[in-house]
Amino acid sequence: MDNPFITEKIKNLLPRYRQFLQDYVYPIELKVVSNPFRQSLPVLQELRNKARSEGLFAPHLTEEDGGPGLSLLEFAQISEVLGTSPLGHYIFNCQAPDIGNMELMHEFASSELKEQYLKPLQRGEIRSCFAMTEPGFAGSNPLQLGTIAVRDGDEYIITGHKWFTSSADGASFTIVMAITNPESSNQYERASMILVPLPNSSVELVRNISVMGESGEDYLSHGELKFHQCRIHISNRIGPEGKGFALAQARLGPGRIHHCMRWIGICERAFDLMCQRATSRSLSGHHMLGHQQIIQFWIAECRAQIQAARLMVLHTALAMDKQGAKAVKEEIATIKFFVANVLTDVLDKAIQVHGGLGITDDTILSFWYRHERASRIYDGPDEVHKSSLARHILKSYGMKFERP
Ligand SMILES: Cc1cc2nc3c(=O)[nH]c(=O)nc-3n(C[C@H](O)[C@H](O)[C@H](O)COP(=O)(O)OP(=O)(O)OC[C@H]3O[C@@H](n4cnc5c(N)ncnc54)[C@H](O)[C@@H]3O)c2cc1C
Repeated sequence: MDNPFITEKIKNLLPRYRQFLQDYVYPIELKVVSNPFRQSLPVLQELRNKARSEGLFAPHLTEEDGGPGLSLLEFAQISEVLGTSPLGHYIFNCQAPDIGNMELMHEFASSELKEQYLKPLQRGEIRSCFAMTEPGFAGSNPLQLGTIAVRDGDEYIITGHKWFTSSADGASFTIVMAITNPESSNQYERASMILVPLPNSSVELVRNISVMGESGEDYLSHGELKFHQCRIHISNRIGPEGKGFALAQARLGPGRIHHCMRWIGICERAFDLMCQRATSRSLSGHHMLGHQQIIQFWIAECRAQIQAARLMVLHTALAMDKQGAKAVKEEIATIKFFVANVLTDVLDKAIQVHGGLGITDDTILSFWYRHERASRIYDGPDEVHKSSLARHILKSYGMKFERP
């Protein structure tokens, strides 16, 4: 069946990305994720150079920034293909959290910050991170922050404790969310985003947090950071003072489409591995796993779930292209929890079909199972998105809600 979402612009691009992954990325991915990440930087750099020479690097960039100028709907479909390998987005320089920072800075940073930080980031010469969540406060309610940035002449003095700052290890800067206007009567206008260059003598990388048995390093890590009276010139603020939450919202809208399409890419790869195993693993003679009805049911259910998820996300991306992120707030909340649950379910079934092999590190499934359980937590836990959607629906029935 023809895909009505494919445009002329990506018709020829999609097979080129698929081929690149098939030829160069799938063959190395297990080795890369099973070893300390820094060991693989030279080989990953070679692939980045190759992607650049083939005109495939940084597919999310606007034409003004030297990219193909794709719509969100178009980029989403490339993101799905890249998501079929844990290295896909990294090799093409559109990995989180850098892509979110690039989009944010493109829209809101000063021309000096763009020149000094955004351009090298877009060229893939440096990496970045985003420090909002704190161990001492519930990240589900980002209005609560302990990190403060006190104005002293032309500088902010930043003090605070962050964690789950993904990819902080080796990053050249972080964008930190800190309270600059505690006196504001509007609780949404108390925080600002400030760019802090790294490494920095006043910013301590306490540790790379061990997640499901792995601390990771470099790009593949989640840092705990302490800001010890870190002095930063006010010109490093992104956007107006007190508008940090508005900027965070702007960053999250397209970000959720990116994550969801990456997850659908993972689902497709897991589904493919599951079907290959079902047709090649013999239970007895010519009786294969795929002859069992329960396995057939799982395959059918996964196919339907993945297709439903993809259509929901592409529909949301199309609406966002046409009407902006604000108009599709509920759709964004819906895809965030729906697709994360499809992802964890499909991965679980794919592992089950592989039996013992599924939990070994001989296939890529176990890497994703460890790393993507978090999909139901980061960028807002399931429960927050479900409550937000349900409240919106109930309001249309006349129900009133007080702010907590
Ligand atoms: C792998 C990973 C990468 C991350 N990367 C980054 C990053 O780069 N930068 C960054 O700043 N942050 C990052 N985060 C942090 C992430 O955004 C937070 O973990 C998330 O917002 C949840 O906050 P919390 O962990 O404090 O959980 P809490 O807010 O303490 O919530 C705990 C649980 O309580 C429940 N809950 C919360 N609120 C509600 C509610 N309203 N109704 C019902 N139940 C509720 C949910 O089940 C939730 O999982 C990352 C997290 C992970 C796991």
